[in-house]
Order: sequence, then C-alpha cells, then structure tokens
Amino acid sequence: MRSVTSRAIHIAQHGGPEQLQLVQVTVGEPGPGEVRIRHHAVGLNYIDVYQRSGLYPMSLPVQLGMEAAGVIEAVGEGVSHLQVGDRAAYASQPPGSYCEVRVMPAKCVCKLPDGISFETGAAMMLKGLTAQYLLKRTLPQGGLQAGDFVLFHAAAGGVGLIACQWAKALGLRLIGTAGSDEKCALALANGAEFAINYRAGDFAAKVKELTGGKGVKVVYDSVGKDTWDQSLDCIAPFGLMASFGNASGPVAPFSPGILGPKGSIYVTRQTLFTHIATRESTQAMADDLFDIVLSGKVQIHIAQRYRLEDVQQAHLDLESRRTTGCTVLTL
Ligand code: NDP
Repeated sequence: MRSVTSRAIHIAQHGGPEQLQLVQVTVGEPGPGEVRIRHHAVGLNYIDVYQRSGLYPMSLPVQLGMEAAGVIEAVGEGVSHLQVGDRAAYASQPPGSYCEVRVMPAKCVCKLPDGISFETGAAMMLKGLTAQYLLKRTLPQGGLQAGDFVLFHAAAGGVGLIACQWAKALGLRLIGTAGSDEKCALALANGAEFAINYRAGDFAAKVKELTGGKGVKVVYDSVGKDTWDQSLDCIAPFGLMASFGNASGPVAPFSPGILGPKGSIYVTRQTLFTHIATRESTQAMADDLFDIVLSGKVQIHIAQRYRLEDVQQAHLDLESRRTTGCTVLTL
C-alpha cells in the first residue's frame, strides 16, 4: 500500500482555539467508495468552532474541517463519478478537511467546473449548499415567490453574503441583519434590500415597519439564543422559522403553545447533512450552486486567508465577529 504524509490540524480535547494543534499524519490508499484528495485550499466554517468547543461533542482526538477543494489522487473500488486528476470540491461529513491530503467518502465529493478556482470551491461548498437548501428546499406553506419578504440573520457572513445574492436572483426581498453598520453596508451591496444593525437595538419592530406590519414569510436564523425571541415576532401568519445555527449559543427550550398566538407559525431546525445524505441530492444541489456562481449572479467573497498553521487565529477572528464573507486556509 502506498502511503503519503500530510500536515493536519487535530484537537485532543474540546476547548478554545489553543486546542488546534498542527500534527503530521500518514494517509493510506482509499478503500471501497472512497477517494484520496490532495487539497489546494480549505474552507473555514462556524461549525468548526462548535466542534472544537464541544457544543457539538466529537469522539476525540479528531481532525477538524468540513470543506475543501483539490485534485483527486487515488480512487477506491466502486467509485465511478471521479477519476485520478479530476479537480474536485466538497462539504464533508465526517470532518477532516484541515490537512493537505486525506482519504474520504467519495459520495460527498463533486467535480469542480473549470471556471471555478480551487479557492472559490473551497470557500463555497458548505456555505453555498447551505444557502441552496435554505432558499430552495426549506420553504413556508405555499412556497416562496418573487416579491416575498424574508429575514436573514448574520447577512454579512459566509452563508449570509451568498444568501443575499441568491435571494435577489430569485426576486426575494431580503432583509438582512448584521453586527455593525459596515457589515450592513456589505449586505446591502450584495443584494439585501434592507439591512438592520441588530446590535444597535431591537430588530423586530423595524422588520414589522419595513413589511407594512405583515412580517416576513421566513426567518433564517443561525444566530440562535440572542435572536430567537424577536425572530418569532417577525413572522407573518403561517410563516416559517428556519433555525440552522447557534453562533450566539443554543436556543432555550420552548413550549409549542407560544406558536399559535404568533400566527400559527411553523418552526424547523435544519442541517445540511440531511440534504446531502445521498450522492444524487449532493450532485443536484452542487450543480445548482455551480450554475449560479458561473452565471456571476452569486460571487464568493473570500475576505480572509490564513495559512493552515495559523488556524488558531482564524478561529479567534471568526468567533470574535471580526470576519465577513468566506475564509480559507491556504496550504
Ligand atoms: P459566519 O461567517 O456567518 O460567522 C458567524 C456570524 O454570526 C458572525 O460573523 C456574526 O456576524 C454572527 N454572530 C451573531 N452573534 C454572534 C456571537 N455571539 N458570536 C459569534 N458570532 C455571532 O459563519 P458561517 O457562514 O460559517 O455560518 C453561518 C451560520 O450558519 C453559523 O451559525 C453556522 O453554524 C450556520 N450553518 C448551519 C448549517 C446547517 O446546515 N445547519 C450549515 C452551515 C452553516 P455579525 O457580527 O454580523 O452578527
């Protein structure tokens, strides 16, 4: 068996960014249904912070990272959609993308179109597929039509800036929230029709005002604890609360009884990994993402780059709300 060595980032315990340690690992040949991929760039995601901190407990030690792009170096038995030498990108479950080379299940890996760079591919797969399923597969009763209002929290972040542009392309009227006036300006420049600095005061009253008292059809909430209560007050009757993250902390338990008086609203908690559980759904969603990026209607903003060995600083900046758009680790 031919093995190669790789630099990689592991955690041995849950905790702060200091737990992220550079190690040397040996990577073997892919088994059935697997590929070995040599990365050109690695994407950083907020889920990496939850997995590092222990909010999402992991079996330890673990190699973190859920997103990357590179070249297929070896293909295991039974893999037919990828060949040695293919450019490829992925959002993965299990984690392990913080490295130069890895073996992983082939089913989550897609060929990367020639018109999309490795860095863009690494930055956009997990975040772009998330924006795809939120706007196209997480819908309120009756669906979403052009002209409908939606509210998207953390609109200047990685998922957020992609969602702002994609929502505009779909004709949706997206109200974005963000943590500073500069971030609000960025959301507006990327397709949000309105932007609210939610650190400067309550956002629910403002949303009601912007929608003529009606509220929005969907709230996409990845902030969690800090935005939950007000978010429920922004939703039109029969509208949908789509919870998909907890950057400020987990949402406290609540009684379903509160949803009736708010207008018989629906609540869902979504995760990308249900949507990309099969090769077919992964490819269909990725094709939709590739199409919109190649059309130029969605641009992937890589606002931060760090070397793999500087990943502690990258986590610190992401958690401290100092980043906008996407972040990649370079190799
Ligand atoms: P972002 O680049 O959006 O970074 C997170 C942002 O959350 C920050 O920049 C900050 O923006 C905002 N935020 C609000 N409150 C806090 C807080 N107390 N601490 C830190 N940040 C805060 O990250 P990603 O694009 O990687 O992910 C966005 C969200 O989507 C995350 O919550 C992530 O877990 C979730 N997600 C969920 C998926 C799913 O399928 N369920 C898949 C992918 C992402 P600001 O300063 O403007 O408030």
